[in-house]
Amino acid sequence: MPGVRVRFAPSPTGELHIGGARTALFNYLFAYSEGGKVVLRIDDTDLERSRSDYIDKLIASMHWLDLEWDEGPYYQSRRLDKYTGEAERLLAENKAYRCYCSAEMLAEGRSEARKESKAYLYPGTCRELTAEQEEAFQKEGRVPVIRLLTPDQGNTVVRDEIRGEVSFENANLDDFIIIKSNGLPTYNFASVVDDLQMDITHVIRAEEHLSNTPRQQLCALALGYELPKFAHVPMILAPDRSKLSKRHGATSVEEFYSEGYLPEALVNYMALLGWSPDAGGEEEIFSLDQMVNRFDLYKVTKTAAVYDVTKLSWMNSHYMREYDLNRLTEAAVPFFEQKSLVEAPLNNEEYNYLKQVIAAVRERAKTLVEMADISTYFYHDRFEYDQKGVQKHFYKENAAQHILKAAEELQKLEPYEKESIENLYRTLSEELGISTGRLIHPTRLAITGRTAGPGIFEIMALLGRERTVERLKKAADYIEKNLPQK
Ligand code: GLU
Repeated sequence: MPGVRVRFAPSPTGELHIGGARTALFNYLFAYSEGGKVVLRIDDTDLERSRSDYIDKLIASMHWLDLEWDEGPYYQSRRLDKYTGEAERLLAENKAYRCYCSAEMLAEGRSEARKESKAYLYPGTCRELTAEQEEAFQKEGRVPVIRLLTPDQGNTVVRDEIRGEVSFENANLDDFIIIKSNGLPTYNFASVVDDLQMDITHVIRAEEHLSNTPRQQLCALALGYELPKFAHVPMILAPDRSKLSKRHGATSVEEFYSEGYLPEALVNYMALLGWSPDAGGEEEIFSLDQMVNRFDLYKVTKTAAVYDVTKLSWMNSHYMREYDLNRLTEAAVPFFEQKSLVEAPLNNEEYNYLKQVIAAVRERAKTLVEMADISTYFYHDRFEYDQKGVQKHFYKENAAQHILKAAEELQKLEPYEKESIENLYRTLSEELGISTGRLIHPTRLAITGRTAGPGIFEIMALLGRERTVERLKKAADYIEKNLPQK
């Protein structure tokens, strides 16, 4: 048996949608779990809607997700002779015919069908044209399309690897167009010619294409090739079970990138949209390689998968916690840049500082965007104090004196580092006869503007003596000025 060969065949008419990326992923998982090959094919025969910048973005998104391929990208727009060649062969074998029906004639038929609330089916008007009739039409300047001659009776049965047998009545499949009057192939025809010529063994794609499959099978049959196997993967719905769209937040891989998700988290999450490695579905965290080892096409569900951003965020925080710190730092740079916290390229000192900031905050953020958001005080000295915190911690008895005293002691502390700062705080609070919390809370607010965050001694060490002391003094000043008079 020839090895498994799958293809991922996006149309470059928009950014790579999460549904498309999940299709790519399932192709990847299946092919590599079977020791097969992945072909990347760009379906760009819709010349008006296809754009080269979308192709670049699509490829960038695939690389970012680490969904690599073995062959391609092949471009359909560069293979037009293959489609016309095969169509000519079908014409010669009387399996297809030229149709000269005018747009008006077809429109009339369509409007009739609409009146009767029926789907329009081409009635086969040009099936039996003689050579003379064709010549006369051509003299009139009519440009034909090419239609496939399809059976009027019987059924076309699609054997879907996930859905089982799905039967379509041939009476509902008319003689559809395979080459348009502009010489370009239709999707159904180009797709089949490529699948056959590229020796694709398994066509794994979105459920919405199931209804195209009988037409594609009829094309394959006419072309005289063996059919690939088909597997249609379930749709991804929004939480309210409507079609997933912009109003549900990020939907394209690029948007997920911009919102600060890590590729491993997105891939892991997407894999579980319609597939689970075990019946109970307890295990949820998998690397791409682990998924390849476990993937089973026959465990992909028939029912739609529901997108759940909370779960994706949870996975993302998991990967943010577990990531190699250098990789996480590199991934975070653009997000810190966006907030004007750093400027790339970073020198060694800046990079090491960022790395320590990230080590401190990584557990507290669900995305890289959030991570940059909660890190601003590591870079900016000016920030607002959380007002609830002000009431609670700054306006407590003697808070200003306490933090000024801490500032004074910190000024002399040797060495100035996390452990020694912590010891100082413990000793000082004892001396002052207050709980350590009474010292720590106003300190945190003074230094970060916030009431919660990473370990305060770590932050103080990172910020350095000078900035820490400055911030404490500034806060003491603020308290003196703003303390409500009794
Ligand atoms: N270009 C089609 C799409 O993006 C491909 C469908 C298929 O895989 O056959 O939907």
